[in-house]
Amino acid sequence: MAYDIDMIKKVYAQMAERVEKARKVVGKPLTLSEKILYSHLWDGVAEQKYERGKDYVNFSPDRIACQDATAQMALLQFMQAGKKKVEVPTTVHCDHLIQAKQGAAKDLKSANETSHEVFDFLGSVSNKYGIGFWKPGAGIIHQVVLENYAFPGGMMIGTDSHTVNAGGLGMVAIGVGGADAVDVMAGMPWELKFPRLIGVKLTGKLNGWTASKDVILKVAGILTVKGGTGAIIEYFGEGAKNLSCTGKGTICNMGAEVGATTSTFGYDDSMERFLRATDRNDVADAANEVREHLTGDDEVYANPEQYFDEVIEIDLSELRPHLNGPFTPDLATPISEMSKKAKENDWPIDVDWGLIGSCTNSSYEDLTRAASIAKQAVDKKIKAKSDFGINPGSEQIRYTAERDGLLKIFEDLDATIFTNACGPCIGQWDRSDRKGEEKNTIVHSFNRNFSKRADGNPNTHAFVGSPEMVAAIAISGRLDFDPTRDKLINEDGEEVMLEEPQGIELPSQGFEVKENGYVEPLEDGSGVSVSVSEDSERLQLLTPFEPWDGKNLLGAKLLIKADGKCTTDHISMAGPWLRYRGHLDNISNNCLIGAVNAFNMKTNFVKSQLTGEYGGVPDTQREYKEKGIPTVVVGDHNYGEGSSREHAAMEPRHLGVKVVIVKSFARIHETNLKKQGMLGLTFANENDYDLIQEDDTFNFIDLEDFAEGKPITVEVVHADGTKDLIKTNHTYNENQIEWYKEGSALNLIKKLNA
Ligand code: SF4
Repeated sequence: MAYDIDMIKKVYAQMAERVEKARKVVGKPLTLSEKILYSHLWDGVAEQKYERGKDYVNFSPDRIACQDATAQMALLQFMQAGKKKVEVPTTVHCDHLIQAKQGAAKDLKSANETSHEVFDFLGSVSNKYGIGFWKPGAGIIHQVVLENYAFPGGMMIGTDSHTVNAGGLGMVAIGVGGADAVDVMAGMPWELKFPRLIGVKLTGKLNGWTASKDVILKVAGILTVKGGTGAIIEYFGEGAKNLSCTGKGTICNMGAEVGATTSTFGYDDSMERFLRATDRNDVADAANEVREHLTGDDEVYANPEQYFDEVIEIDLSELRPHLNGPFTPDLATPISEMSKKAKENDWPIDVDWGLIGSCTNSSYEDLTRAASIAKQAVDKKIKAKSDFGINPGSEQIRYTAERDGLLKIFEDLDATIFTNACGPCIGQWDRSDRKGEEKNTIVHSFNRNFSKRADGNPNTHAFVGSPEMVAAIAISGRLDFDPTRDKLINEDGEEVMLEEPQGIELPSQGFEVKENGYVEPLEDGSGVSVSVSEDSERLQLLTPFEPWDGKNLLGAKLLIKADGKCTTDHISMAGPWLRYRGHLDNISNNCLIGAVNAFNMKTNFVKSQLTGEYGGVPDTQREYKEKGIPTVVVGDHNYGEGSSREHAAMEPRHLGVKVVIVKSFARIHETNLKKQGMLGLTFANENDYDLIQEDDTFNFIDLEDFAEGKPITVEVVHADGTKDLIKTNHTYNENQIEWYKEGSALNLIKKLNA
């Protein structure tokens, strides 16, 4: 399990020189983000200043973490890279494939039966290639990483968009597609466009019902789901020091919801306390020795406007609890205004479920604060009106919470304690109370609330709040309940109020766990065999994608013009489809089935230009593929926002889609398209999106001259024979154009290794 203290000490030993050199080349004091980025350059010390938002830079991350749903494809790809072992410390965490239904014991047993093939595959590949393996039930990737591996000033990547959670321990931790992770596992540099920097100055101190979660709910309301795109959000100020380490983790976790590359905080006493509480005194001691390099320079925080591209200021003393949603995490509503807003929007007031936990909010502090509310309900004889579900983030937190009587408090309210896994947060929820698609409301302390995310029901209105607010609302059963103002009627008919939550940052008796679920890989795994059955439904060895023929792409047909929000959930749905994450052909049957067809506003209902008939997207696309006809997908803004899953790029690629043209891309998805040898373009003139018609044919007439910074001209031929000539932009650099030429980044790696 061991974190690699020697690696951490090596990072710290290089830091003084690298930070000093970076200060010289940048020519001014440095933010924390810059210190971490410049001290992780692939080429060592900085020789030049990088332009934010423009220059692509090669980095050398310290760690990699993969979750089971994305690890399958990542490891299938790594197996093709021709390596004996991973070159960078890597862990795999089995957390996404466990369905929440009856409670931890039964659900885990069931997952081990239904997904044993996948877990066995991940376990044996991990053992073979020197990867640490966390078994099903061990916990959720980001909580396990925070408790075991994250360290101040480090850089990590992970095949999950909430890898950013480790910013709570002062890392630059970034969610990537599996193909990026494979590069780093194979000893290659990891490329990222040097991010813009957003500074968030926190003053004051949280009080009453307000929690760390409310900081990010507020920030999401300010920045919206696109506002952090291409940026690192760096939090600083006295208010930041007043937050717990795990509270910082919550804030960084949901930075993914504003599209931020990552978020981070400077090293402080709260981080030191957390490191020591999680049995990492040596890391805390090592960090203390380089403390000055693990925060931004004083001058930066004194005059942030001069050093950040954007600065936001939040007074924690004034901040009030929020609920964000439904359907988008940036729709922020202070609870005091929820009553009015819910009426105006006709959101269902009755709350069916309150769900607490996930990687976002299952710290000891979170559970104690929520439990302090639950306990009041029991003590004051208030019967909870909604159902309660709890997803502990790790076995360590679950064991400790059970030891300290926290889980018992929830159980006294008839809560179901689900497995230490993602469960309802990723659609792995067999929800028994609503089988139909009635309009209904749930509240949860997770991070995402896109349509269908929790239970597959598009009419479920999911609201995101802090664990204590979720507890209070679930007890009241009302979305518009404001515990600072509203009374409840108890079983004796008396009016009672819930008092402010009380939390404990870290367990006074320390954390404890009997069986943490970790499996150390063999030192020499060369004798381990990994087998994938040819008739497996769940796993399929990969066949390399075809290289580009070097010619212009002509005669491509429109597959779908997606209207509005098209997240990776719309492109490659999770929920029941998670079972096919290791089988490219099978999972391709969900390709774009959640995207809304702009011509009829229906999902999974597109016109085939071959037959004139309407049908599902994957079926229609398979017909084009069979005839060898290339196709194009057109999309709106922030296309591919959401998760880092490369399936959203691999599926269309596998099915024969050649190009995706959109108004704008979400960063990770754009990179994923490039890595899989797809052409990802943006309309030079956004309004050209409106020119695209249902029966259009596309000719990419100067693709033969594909070059960095050079727009690509597209001739769009309409059904009546008229044509529009439109300009599209791209962000491929020279290296990425090589990926395109070879058919994928992996093809290029293999070629170089050979
Ligand atoms: Fe799991 Fe949800 Fe966290 Fe993703 S956001 S890692 S699905 S708990």
